[in-house]
Amino acid sequence: MPRQRPNVQSQSVYEPRQRLYVTATLAAEAKISLTGNQAHYLRNVLRCQTGDAVLLFNGADGEWQAQIEALGKKQAELVIGTQHRPQSAGGDLWLLVAPVKRDRLDYLAQKATEMGVSRLVPVITRRTQGGGGMVKIDRLRANAIEAAEQCGILNVPEIAAPQRLEDILQDWPADRPLVFCDETAPSGAGLGGQELADSDSKIQGGLAVLVGPEGGFDASEHAMLNAHAQMLRLSLGPRILRTDTAVVAALAVLQARFGDWR
Ligand code: SAH
Repeated sequence: MPRQRPNVQSQSVYEPRQRLYVTATLAAEAKISLTGNQAHYLRNVLRCQTGDAVLLFNGADGEWQAQIEALGKKQAELVIGTQHRPQSAGGDLWLLVAPVKRDRLDYLAQKATEMGVSRLVPVITRRTQGGGGMVKIDRLRANAIEAAEQCGILNVPEIAAPQRLEDILQDWPADRPLVFCDETAPSGAGLGGQELADSDSKIQGGLAVLVGPEGGFDASEHAMLNAHAQMLRLSLGPRILRTDTAVVAALAVLQARFGDWR
């Protein structure tokens, strides 16, 4: 069923709802050419037509309104009009997560983006499935871009290359607390628990959260984490959550307690 096209004449300001992430520089009157997937997406998914307006963002120049001048099967020409929103810095929240199966990893990249993660680091642990070999950075980035377009943010999270847990902990930044989601943590390490309460003062700037693989961390990894100076243990309740559930739950707790949900 064709998308209901707003009757532009009757509205004073037509607020385009469709947003596209582009890599081009965005400035008034600039011409942007889209090829391949993005042109297809505009034409066949968003069912845009020549003359429609869309919003473009690139993570640096803010969000700009653009008009479609030409729209073909695999090509689109847009001209930029006015800036819709100035660029703003996103949050400073890292997610370290042991990669899970392919389809769940896609889900993870999308949810992490929607929940305000600024940097996603796939972590290789002793029980990571397939040793992280199936982590496709481009695929994760495409999922993060799609989620950023949908959830209205101006920045796309950085997708880091997979790193081993011990290497990450080796040179961990001294000013960044690492919240370790630990299903073996005593219940006191929950949202209202003493450990997080004590850390309120510590958590001013950036923050990181670590979630393990479906098989959990092994004993040596638990020991390494518990000995780490910046580590704060977080219990996500009495039930064992799947990795992707724990990611969303932990990010909700942290955004509500320390982040931009307050
Ligand atoms: N070791 C678990 C499986 C790990 S669950 C088992 O006994 O089956 C996958 C990851 O999700 C864990 O490494 C942990 O980081 C997180 N997680 C799951 N449930 C949790 C909970 N109740 N509290 C804190 N973290 C949890």
